Amino acid sequence: MRMYDIIEKKRDSKKLNYKELQFFVTGICNKTIPDYQTTAFLMAAYLNGFDEEETYQLCELMANSGDVMVFHEQLKTADKHSTGGVGDKTSLIVGPVVAANGLTLAKMSGRGLGYTGGTIDKLESIPGFNATLSLKQFKEIYKKSNLCITGQTGNMVPADKILYGLRDVTATVDNIPLIATSIMSKKLAAGAKNIVLDVKTGNGAFMSTIKAAEALATKMVEIGANNNRNVSALITNMNYPLGYNIGNSLEVIEAIELLKGNIKGHLYDVSINLAGELIHLATNEDREQCIEKAIKSIENGSALEKLKEMIVNQGGDIRIIDDYSLFKQAKYTFEIKAEKSGYITDIKAKSIGKLSMMLGAGRETKTSIIDMSAGIVLKKQVGDYLNEKEVIAMLYSDKKNVKDIIDTFTDIFIIRDKKAKPYKIVIGRITKDKVIYF
Ligand code: URA
Repeated sequence: MRMYDIIEKKRDSKKLNYKELQFFVTGICNKTIPDYQTTAFLMAAYLNGFDEEETYQLCELMANSGDVMVFHEQLKTADKHSTGGVGDKTSLIVGPVVAANGLTLAKMSGRGLGYTGGTIDKLESIPGFNATLSLKQFKEIYKKSNLCITGQTGNMVPADKILYGLRDVTATVDNIPLIATSIMSKKLAAGAKNIVLDVKTGNGAFMSTIKAAEALATKMVEIGANNNRNVSALITNMNYPLGYNIGNSLEVIEAIELLKGNIKGHLYDVSINLAGELIHLATNEDREQCIEKAIKSIENGSALEKLKEMIVNQGGDIRIIDDYSLFKQAKYTFEIKAEKSGYITDIKAKSIGKLSMMLGAGRETKTSIIDMSAGIVLKKQVGDYLNEKEVIAMLYSDKKNVKDIIDTFTDIFIIRDKKAKPYKIVIGRITKDKVIYF
């Protein structure tokens, strides 16, 4: 078999068989296929796509290209994935909530890149927290406590690491079969039986339209079902940042406040819907009742107890739960004030993400060092009224030139005389049997 012939077949929109896909995945992992052939193949696949069978086979081959997690059958294992957004700290909430409801969430999460944050960076803002566990430590912790979040351990899905790295530099990222196989190969290898996907749509998301988000969600749910996993997806709004805080320690603080019962609103709604969905997948109980269970575990403090347990088990300083001054503090603060009175009709998620990154909270390149204390606290949300000169947002950074950074942005906040229509945060739900819009 020759890679040349496989590229030619895909270039001519012909279907690849299992042996050919296997040759490709094995070849990229053992480096017998050079990058120039892999990228030619990726471009052919980007332009001509894969059919259902090719998608399932490629995903399965990628998932099994390295180590895979195998959990005990009896555990109600759960996992979640977000396609990435600004201010999205839902894993820090959903994990403790589902663990408080008896599920095992032993999850490998990623770091942030560009303007979207990553759960591992957020957790590492907790002094002492170990998010680079060995496989042995990971297993010991989830067996004793049913909640554990770490960065990737072992050699999982090497095929995706290679393909994603090449897609990133060859304009072949934004393609539904390639994204779906990339995400789902990692979810399949991570081993959980029940998986909820948070597919974001809007100006701060990968999928800017609802239609594109539905297509991606549907493909991922189908891949899950084909692999005997219970998978469903929620389509959620990412036109505006989720919640009030953006930046690593700031987001941990907001998650703690929510678990203490002090925050309602969009972050709360997305979190209880995702957690309820996971409990529903794992127990088959009525979905609405599962959302009620998620709410109960916030109200009775059991979810907060689970978060504390995880922090202790992973070496973090538990005193941060009640003393936020123990997080690293930024050297400089800066207020953004309203230029006129009126209603906020837009807060551009992508610009907020980029601003937060430039303040030091995110990585411009994979090797950038991030500042755990940097970020933004929104004082107002879309729909709120504010007076001229009222503070809309507080910025935190170790960089002295915060004013210069903010001056590179125009129109992050749009203020108008008339209030905008309220918007839905949870837009749709996609299961293997149906698509529902709320
Ligand atoms: N996230 C992934 O893990 N893979 C993609 O292809 C896109 C987003």
